Amino acid sequence: MTAEPAALPLLQMALRVEQDIFVIRQRGREVAGVVGLEHQDQVRIATALSEVARDLLRMTGGADVAFHIDAGPDGRFHLRADLAPVGPLPDGRYEPQSGAVSRLVDTLSVSTAEGVTVVRMSRRVPANAPTPTPERLAEFRAELGRTAPGSALDELTVQNGQLIAALDEVRSQRDELAVLNDELAETNRGVLALYNQLTEELEATNRGVVALYAELDEKSAQLRAASESKSRFLANVSHELRAPVTAIIGLGRLLADSSSDPLTAEQARQVGLIRSSAEDLLGLVNELLDLAKAESGRIEPDWADVDLRPVFGQLRGTMRALATRPGVGLVVEEPTEPAVLRTDEVLLGQVLRNLLHNGLKFTERGEVRLRARRRDDRWNFEVSDTGPGIAPELHDRIFEEFYQVPGATRVGGTGLGLPYARRLVTLLGGTLELASEPGRGSTFTVSLPTGGA
Ligand code: ADP
Repeated sequence: MTAEPAALPLLQMALRVEQDIFVIRQRGREVAGVVGLEHQDQVRIATALSEVARDLLRMTGGADVAFHIDAGPDGRFHLRADLAPVGPLPDGRYEPQSGAVSRLVDTLSVSTAEGVTVVRMSRRVPANAPTPTPERLAEFRAELGRTAPGSALDELTVQNGQLIAALDEVRSQRDELAVLNDELAETNRGVLALYNQLTEELEATNRGVVALYAELDEKSAQLRAASESKSRFLANVSHELRAPVTAIIGLGRLLADSSSDPLTAEQARQVGLIRSSAEDLLGLVNELLDLAKAESGRIEPDWADVDLRPVFGQLRGTMRALATRPGVGLVVEEPTEPAVLRTDEVLLGQVLRNLLHNGLKFTERGEVRLRARRRDDRWNFEVSDTGPGIAPELHDRIFEEFYQVPGATRVGGTGLGLPYARRLVTLLGGTLELASEPGRGSTFTVSLPTGGA
């Protein structure tokens, strides 16, 4: 939709005397009406025209006025009014006396081309107005030619009517504003009430949460106290039990000694039973004591840079004595170099011995294997076996005190080894995890930070 600015103006007129201002105002409104501007916009451009015309008449003695239709860069049409002053403008510049004039139109500018200065204003024609084709422009011109300018009095009457309409409009807008204000105040009250209600609910919830936290703190303190009492009780009882049980073992050994009075076969069997039961009991008492010590935080790791190769060598030696089953091999792999980590050598040895011992205890065929592998800043120790394996739902339970997998081959034990091993690993800043399935063996992995806890 391109349209060259129509070369022929829609209307032209001259401004020379005071009365012409009324005529320009009236004709401006008519032109605006003919090209399709809405009533409000007709009044706006007419008012702007009369203001500028008054200024130019006073400053330069008059102007030549011409109306055109242009296509703007936005593809929309604009009604343009050019007022070319008959005399020079002071400093070649023009500022409307009333600052509000520029707000009545879309553009208001002063331009000078080839020595001719023009005050130009424009107002956009609404999209639904008829497209100003050359034929239609000719019709516009004809229509404007038919209407003759009225007198100043006529224009004054029209202007008065417009003023009254504008006043009415202002009044109705003021009434609308008052209604809106009332509604706003009402909404505000609603929002405030809602806000208060929400604040109260929030406070109530907060109070509830605070009470819950207090209760939780109290319960955890109770739990801590109970756990400490349990550890203390275990430590005390096992300590107290150790001396008499050791005495029973000693006495049994004495009774069976060849230098003592000879026993009948039945007596010797019974003394043997007493000794082995007492030894089992001592094992249990010692394990309980170890666990109680670890839980009460009385074990302090003795941190040092530990070379794994001698540790593994020692384990290979001591565990071989336990690997007595003919169909089961024990493999302790040589760690890859450099195999040094910061830890407590004794505690690490205890944990690995414990796991290897379990492997040898529960594996009837195949092998039990220990290997160490470095992964980033951790050392992973894997103790794997080809034993019966452990069902996934029991993986947590076997780390509970006294838990033993039901139905597993009865090979003795207390159910305290794994919880103790996990406590020690935690003390060393690591983790003890299990991967196992029934029939597929088990792999216990101790993962320790290279630099210690
Ligand atoms: P204990 O060996 O003295 O019974 P643990 O705490 O060391 O106690 O082990 C708990 C239970 O976990 C064992 O009784 C056994 O049922 C199961 N378990 C531990 N290690 C293995 C393993 N390598 N293979 C199969 N089951 C095992």
